[in-house]
Amino acid sequence: MKYEPVIGLEVHVQLNTKSKMFCSCSTEFGAEPNKNTCPICLGMPGVLPAINREAINLAIKTALATNCKIAPFNRFARKNYFYPDLPKGYQISQYELPLAKNGHIEIVTNGKIKRIGITRVHMEEDAGKLIHGENLRSHDSSYVDMNRAGVPLMEVVSEPDIHSPEEAKEYVTRLKSILRYIEVSDCNMEEGSLRCDANVSIRPVGSKGLGIKTEVKNMNSFRFLQKALEYEIKRQIDIVEEGGKIIQETRLFNPDKGITISMRGKEEAHDYRYFPEPDLVPTEIDSTWIEDIRATLPELPDAKRKRFVKEYGLPEYDAEVITISKSIANYFENCIKLYNKPKIISNWVMGEVLRTLKDEDFEIEKYPVTPQMLTGMFNLIDNGTISGKIAKTVFEEMYKTGKSPENIVKEKGLVQITDEAEIIKVIDEIIASNPKEVADYKGGKEKLLTFFVGQVMKISKGKANPQSVNNLLKERLKNNPSLTNP
Ligand code: ADP
Ligand code: MG
Ligand code: ZN
Repeated sequence: MKYEPVIGLEVHVQLNTKSKMFCSCSTEFGAEPNKNTCPICLGMPGVLPAINREAINLAIKTALATNCKIAPFNRFARKNYFYPDLPKGYQISQYELPLAKNGHIEIVTNGKIKRIGITRVHMEEDAGKLIHGENLRSHDSSYVDMNRAGVPLMEVVSEPDIHSPEEAKEYVTRLKSILRYIEVSDCNMEEGSLRCDANVSIRPVGSKGLGIKTEVKNMNSFRFLQKALEYEIKRQIDIVEEGGKIIQETRLFNPDKGITISMRGKEEAHDYRYFPEPDLVPTEIDSTWIEDIRATLPELPDAKRKRFVKEYGLPEYDAEVITISKSIANYFENCIKLYNKPKIISNWVMGEVLRTLKDEDFEIEKYPVTPQMLTGMFNLIDNGTISGKIAKTVFEEMYKTGKSPENIVKEKGLVQITDEAEIIKVIDEIIASNPKEVADYKGGKEKLLTFFVGQVMKISKGKANPQSVNNLLKERLKNNPSLTNP
C-alpha cells in the first residue's frame, strides 16, 4: 500500500510592535530577565488589559496579504491552563470569533503553482520563558523570565493541504517571505519570532478522508521542520504497516537524535474551557479601517513575481527565486537600471550572489558587491576586457575586498588576451607537445577539441578569449603539421 502524508501547519509569529499586547511594557528581545514587566503582564489580580491597536493593524495587514476574509466583529477568549510561565492561569487568545478566516497563499512545487488554504488568522499573547538547570549555577532549579509574557503573537493556521515535507518547507518559506515583505514581524526563527507546529497524518493514496493526526512541536528551523516531518511520516507508516494504530498526541522533535518523542496525550479544545474574555471589549473592524491598512501594503511577492516575468521576460523560476525577499528584488531592479539585460543579472544573482549571501532572511543590504560593481563587471565582459570565466575570479575578489571590478582587473592583471598572435603561440606549443592527441583528433576524434581548449586556457591562466581560442584552434589543427605563422 502507498501512503500520502497530510500536513497542516500552525505558525506563530511575534508581531513587530514596540509594546506588548495588553500593557505598555517593551517587547525588546534579549533584555535583562524580568526587566520588561508590569502588574498586567505578570498576571496580578485586579489589573485590566487594554488592546494594542498596532497589533490589530499588523494582523489585519497579514489577513489581507494572505487573502483572508476579515471578520467585522472579533473577540478575545480565555484559554485556561496551568504552566509556571503563565502566571494568570490562562492565555488571552481568540477562539470562536477570530480576526480573519478563509484565505490562501500560493506555493511553487515541481514548477507548479499550488494553493494552500489558510483556515484562520488570530491574535494572542505569548507566555514567559522557563530556563532550566543546565546553563545556570545550580542544576536543580529552574528560572522564569517574564519578558516575553504578553508579547503580541499572531497564529496563522493552514488547511491540511500540504502533502510532503518539501511542500511544508515551501509553505513556511513563502509565508515568511510575505510576512517580511509587509513588515509585520522579523520572523527570526532562532529568536523564536516565528515558530511552527506541524500536524501530520497519513492516508492511503487516493483516499480522501483524514487519518488520526499527531502534532509535532519544537521546530525552530526549516531543516528541523523537514527532518521532523520525514521522521514522523515514516514512524506513522511503520506503525500502520505493522497493524498498529496511530494515537492522537503531541510530540516533541529532538534535533540531536532527529526523532520525535511523545510529550503528552493531545488535549481537546474543551479541555481549555475557552470563554469570552470579560476584561476586553470585542473589536469591530469596519471597511474604512481595512482600506486604510490595505493602502499601506507594498507590492506582494506573488504580484512582483508575475510582474518580473512580464516586464523583464524572466523565466518563472528566476522570478520566484529573486522575489523571495524585497531586498533581493530591489537589488535586482537596481542592477536593471544600470544594465538592461535581465537574464544575465538573474543568472548571477541566483548563482554567485545567493551562493555567497550568508543570510537566511535573504537580506542583501550589507552585501559587499553592490549593483554598481556587479553591472560594472558585466560591462567589462561586454567590451572584451575580461572573459566570462575570469569574471568569476573578479566576482570573488569584489566579494572579498569590496574593490571595484576595474581596480581588480588592473591590480591582478586579468585583462583578457585578445591578441591572436599571442594565442596562436600558446596553441602551437600545445599542438607540438601533444602529438598523439593531435593525431587522434585528425583521425576523427573531434571531441578532443575541448581537451585542447582546456590546455590553452590553463596555460593562459584563463585569460585567453574563449571564442578566439576555439576558432584559432580549429584552424591550427587543420593546418598541422606544417605549422605556419598567420
Ligand atoms: P486542533 O484543535 O487539534 O489544534 P485543528 O482542527 O484546529 O486541530 O487543526 C489544527 C491544524 O491541524 C490545522 O493546521 C489543520 O489543517 C491540521 N489538521 C487537522 N486535521 C488534520 C489531519 N487529520 N491530518 C493532518 N493535519 C490536520
Ligand atoms: Mg493545535
Ligand atoms: Zn507589562
